[in-house]
Amino acid sequence: MRFLDVEETRAHINVDNAQGSLFFPGTARIDPALLTEGLARVLKNQGVRICEDTSAGHIGKGQVSTNRGPVSGDTIFVCLEGYSDTVTGDLPGLEGRQVIPVFSSMIATEPLSADAWDAIGWEGRECLGDTAHTFIYAQRTEDDRIALGGRGAPYAFGSGLPGDGRVPAEVVELLRTRLSSLFPDLEVEVAHAWRGALGVTRDWCAGIFFDADQRIGVARGYAGHGVTATHLAAKTLLDRASGQSTPLTALPWNDHYSGQWEPEPIRWLGIRSMYRIFNIADEWERVTGAKRTSLLARFGSRLAGLHE
Ligand SMILES: Cc1cc2nc3c(=O)[nH]c(=O)nc-3n(C[C@H](O)[C@H](O)[C@H](O)COP(=O)(O)OP(=O)(O)OC[C@H]3O[C@@H](n4cnc5c(N)ncnc54)[C@H](O)[C@@H]3O)c2cc1C
Repeated sequence: MRFLDVEETRAHINVDNAQGSLFFPGTARIDPALLTEGLARVLKNQGVRICEDTSAGHIGKGQVSTNRGPVSGDTIFVCLEGYSDTVTGDLPGLEGRQVIPVFSSMIATEPLSADAWDAIGWEGRECLGDTAHTFIYAQRTEDDRIALGGRGAPYAFGSGLPGDGRVPAEVVELLRTRLSSLFPDLEVEVAHAWRGALGVTRDWCAGIFFDADQRIGVARGYAGHGVTATHLAAKTLLDRASGQSTPLTALPWNDHYSGQWEPEPIRWLGIRSMYRIFNIADEWERVTGAKRTSLLARFGSRLAGLHE
């Protein structure tokens, strides 16, 4: 990791009002759709059967009920992340109110003109993020758009799910505003918007569980950082199921119990208040040019159960 001053930062990406940045040269980015397709192709070639449009309901020892009939197996892994509450069963790590779905939403612009890219730079196609409490993340895509994501209307009462992935207009507008704050001179239309659910536990930490009697494993709670973490979790679940002690089964997220979320409406009020507080804290820190995290933001983190 290297610290870049204002000039160096703007030589990479000409972000308005940049104060400096931290540069991680080892960062990589992936196309999640290509990853999913590639994974499916490899598994099918190995003889694995993938059943799409099939919802699991109850999960018991050796058997899962689904909307298309029961499925049986010696060992069952439940990896539903933000959708963990859609199944029932006496499952380790899923005993009620342990994981809630929090939404992350993204926009992608139309492809930018060559002139616009000349002004912005971003030739290294680095992953870009800010350190706001209501942070955003962005990248220059292969086809020269800007894809930018963040939160905004992140939780629906009663752990509601993101449905068909359509994003409310006010969230699209909020993300567009964040894009404009990075590149005020940029004039480009938003071409796409979508959202999905992350699984968040009460202490924002992931956990992996395996019940050796029932032979049911559960992994969940990556809080929006699951692209690589799921790979490690899957390997860990396999080691747990084999009954061996390995370096992976010794990692601290094994059997990590995060506690329970509060019942509604306290949960909804708490998460809503947390994001409201973070929004005000971001504005306060921006206006006052704060060099440290404000007391308000610390209070918001406490409320959320976030570790600083
Ligand atoms: C907009 C957005 C941007 C993100 N950006 C990043 C990022 O930059 N980096 C990063 O590391 N992570 C990111 N994430 C988070 C990352 O996508 C997740 O952490 C990761 O996908 C978790 O993988 P998973 O396989 O555990 O769960 P998921 O990918 O959520 O898969 C769960 C699957 O279970 C299925 N399902 C739901 N209910 C049932 C049921 N009852 N029966 C059967 N199947 C069911 C769902 O259809 C889904 O396919 C982002 C997420 C979103 C939404």
